[in-house]
Amino acid sequence: MVKAKKWVVKKYFDGVPKKSDFEIVEYELPSLEGGEILLKTEWISVDPYLRAYNKNIPIPYDQFSFQVGVVQETKNPKYPVGTKVVTHKGWCDYVIVKETQIEIGQFPKELTYKLPDLQGLSPSLGVGAVGMPGVTAYFGFLELCQPKAGETVVVTGAAGAVGSLVGQIAKIKGCKVIGFAGSEEKCQWLEKELGFDKALNYKKVDAQSALTVAAPQGVDCYFDNVGGELSSVIIGQMNMRGRVAVCGSISAYNDKQLPKATILQPSIVFKELKIEGFIVWRWIDRWSEGFTQLVSWIKSGQLKPAEHTTVGFDKLFDAFIGMLEGQNTGKAVVKV
Ligand code: NDP
Repeated sequence: MVKAKKWVVKKYFDGVPKKSDFEIVEYELPSLEGGEILLKTEWISVDPYLRAYNKNIPIPYDQFSFQVGVVQETKNPKYPVGTKVVTHKGWCDYVIVKETQIEIGQFPKELTYKLPDLQGLSPSLGVGAVGMPGVTAYFGFLELCQPKAGETVVVTGAAGAVGSLVGQIAKIKGCKVIGFAGSEEKCQWLEKELGFDKALNYKKVDAQSALTVAAPQGVDCYFDNVGGELSSVIIGQMNMRGRVAVCGSISAYNDKQLPKATILQPSIVFKELKIEGFIVWRWIDRWSEGFTQLVSWIKSGQLKPAEHTTVGFDKLFDAFIGMLEGQNTGKAVVKV
């Protein structure tokens, strides 16, 4: 018998999530049945959507997220002991996965697949640059923004998991890249380490005038991670037939009421903008194609997959809140 632990969400979040909204539950896992595998968790992801989806799910629920585990016991010949596996089983230290779940499906809860071949890179990338955030950046940006060399790209949440990849992919594609992030250190890192042409601290600058200076020729593509007034300002400075990929709106995830922002219709109409939201599951049948390209860029040194690592299963809540508060530069991950 294996003793397992999991974080259970027992209350709906009210504003910023509280530790008392969660409970760590210990329980015994049953013996494996045919087709099942037992995973020991090694890396767990903390992400903004854990906050955003909370109000839509009946409580109590096991805290989902992506995680990388290693097969400890198996009754499935396709998954021998030692195989590294990515699941959406979230904040638990051991988990049994049924064979019926070992298929790529539409619903993330059922998503279980072998860790892609990382060619010696850290397995933690399986929940980051070569995981869901990686393909969010890759497909969300390239498919919806359709960037062309020489164009100007703006990305918000630029120093985070998705944003830092979007900016680097835009550089690979020959674009001029401007990022918005929440501290001077992050802005320095974006310019000096990741090669952004300009990074702006949205907490300090007047976005309207700073962007006019940074992008005097206007903005062609905008990858929106944050929403709110900052996005309205950026969209207001777009060029004819600019493209906006709406990925998220983290600026309002903890708000009880959605904030108001400057209307976008004049820009959309007169600049003939294309604004499209997406959920990364849309490209689930192409994730492996994205993983292959992302690994290749990382191995060649064109893409730097930064991570912000917290150690300890008991620290999952702190890592989650830290990410929501902007403590992370790159992907926030927890090493179990
Ligand atoms: P990040 O690694 O970017 O972490 C969250 C970051 O958000 C923080 O580091 C912080 O950085 C920033 N932030 C926090 N509060 C605010 C605020 N009020 N205004 C602006 N920025 C803020 O997370 P991810 O890369 O995982 O996710 C980025 C976005 O992408 C989120 O909106 C998320 O929901 C979305 N997403 C959407 C997917 C989809 O399929 N559509 C899939 C995956 C992610 P800072 O210091 O700069 O403030």
